[in-house]
Amino acid sequence: MDDQRRAVADRTRGFLPAEEADALRAAAADARPGLWLEIGTYCAKSTVHLGSVAETAGAHLVTLDHHHGSEENQPGWEYHDAELVDPRTGRLETLPHARHTLHDAGLEPVVTLLVGSTQQVAPWWTSPLELLFLDGNHTDEVAQHDYAAFAPHLTDGALLLVHDVFSDPRDGGQAPWHVVRRALESGAFDEVSVTGSLRVLRRTGSVLPGVPGSLT
Ligand code: MG
Repeated sequence: MDDQRRAVADRTRGFLPAEEADALRAAAADARPGLWLEIGTYCAKSTVHLGSVAETAGAHLVTLDHHHGSEENQPGWEYHDAELVDPRTGRLETLPHARHTLHDAGLEPVVTLLVGSTQQVAPWWTSPLELLFLDGNHTDEVAQHDYAAFAPHLTDGALLLVHDVFSDPRDGGQAPWHVVRRALESGAFDEVSVTGSLRVLRRTGSVLPGVPGSLT
């Protein structure tokens, strides 16, 4: 990633330590071209890292978010940022920030911003994926939904990346860890690497038991 793009990523709001950003790019560099999907755009910090690798790889990155923030971003919560509240709606609004980030990074041709909830998109999504980065809502219900809805679209050998994975509850919420455990216990994924809270898995080709539509 060039210096100008790194500077854009560094000044963009988000929750991605430098070590995990480096690991994200290193993992993505192993993915095949085709379609990559990020769930949880926020202000597009990680999108710059993934999009930069996608550009080199000849892949296209779709990044999906309703842009009203997760629970932990809402007023009164730990990760709330009052500057992100839209005075017109009174709600958190990250879409303009993500647009500016991708413009500044020169990544608009490589990245499609998809605005909606995962529940809205899942029923009609049919495209095979070479990379899936799960970094959306961290409640168990939604994290499990996002995995079950989108992981079956991963092709044999494609990569599943999960952020904010803490196997010890003292370190953080457990929902992403439950997703990783489910993926590994399904027998359909092998673990590739662990860097901080970033887990990288590879789909090995077997079916995903209990996941409808997994026979792809
Ligand atoms: Mg995250």
